[in-house]
Amino acid sequence: MSKMDTLSLIVPCYNEEEALPIFYEEARKVTDTMKDTDVEFMFVDDGSRDETMKVIKELASKDERVHYVSFSRNFGKESAIYAGLDNAIGDYVAILDADLQDPPSLLPDMMKIVKTKDCDCVGTRRVNRKGEPPIRSFFARRFYRIMNKISHTEVVDGARDFQLMNRKVVNAILSMGEYNRFSKGIFGWVGYKKEWLEYENIERSAGETKWSFWSLFVYAIDGIVAFSTAPLVIASISGIVMFFVAIIGIIFIIVRTLIFGDPTSGWPSMICIMLLIAGIQLLCMGILGQYLGKTYLETKRRPLYLVEESKLGDKK
Ligand code: UDP
Ligand code: MG
Repeated sequence: MSKMDTLSLIVPCYNEEEALPIFYEEARKVTDTMKDTDVEFMFVDDGSRDETMKVIKELASKDERVHYVSFSRNFGKESAIYAGLDNAIGDYVAILDADLQDPPSLLPDMMKIVKTKDCDCVGTRRVNRKGEPPIRSFFARRFYRIMNKISHTEVVDGARDFQLMNRKVVNAILSMGEYNRFSKGIFGWVGYKKEWLEYENIERSAGETKWSFWSLFVYAIDGIVAFSTAPLVIASISGIVMFFVAIIGIIFIIVRTLIFGDPTSGWPSMICIMLLIAGIQLLCMGILGQYLGKTYLETKRRPLYLVEESKLGDKK
């Protein structure tokens, strides 16, 4: 019999005490049907403030395939994913949310695709955004449109973080040690052959979403800054355009003064123009500041996560 492949399930958990037991039951049921695969559960406790860690330890005491890493504080889902990839021992690795919005029932299919088709990674897309506030969907769609226009990295609309990949892809992602992690961009940036599975949006099984509208907005800006420099180009171009408009304006005023004299008029319009220009300047400085700020954070080379405690499998 050939060597069994190991599949690691990475589950980032932040305050998921209610959702975790449901997730574990479901994932166990599904993976029990995958006879030719060993499974590792890799729960990453992202500094939860509830009983998540207790739940994980209970699971670990009952099931030796359950491994975990817990953080010293909340580092965010991106760091949790990185830590999971960093510590997973599997030949194949899947990333799933704890709330069952990423149905484990797709895992057998994903595993089959990755093994039989000529691909390194199977991603999932939700074909609709059922159950999501319409205004959130609206802005999400705009974000993907803009992002794909201004960035060379493909960011697929509706793509979830839920995916299954082989070692090659895992190592590629781990080699990207950047501090500002925008996973959707990172998954696209590493490339490799990818197949897509589609499914309908599923609402959370228990607990609450950690994303407010504002945090999503900030996340979108981070994503753009991390994977595109187009805003800098826009800032430069608007500077050049303003320069020429000003030159034309000056010539116009000189000529008008020479011909008609200089009646003191037009103050309100002047104030408006000054405000406009000052506004554009501040905007451009803000854009520059975004990139500078990110550069500042990158240069510190801080670790992506700090471990409070862990139980890990032996790497092969
Ligand atoms: N999560 C995390 N750290 C955070 C926020 C979220 O590890 O700071 C985890 C969370 O426990 C869940 C997954 O990321 O497993 C997705 O979170 P959520 O369901 O709140 O996001 P949504 O599905 O609404 O986009
Ligand atoms: Mg969710």
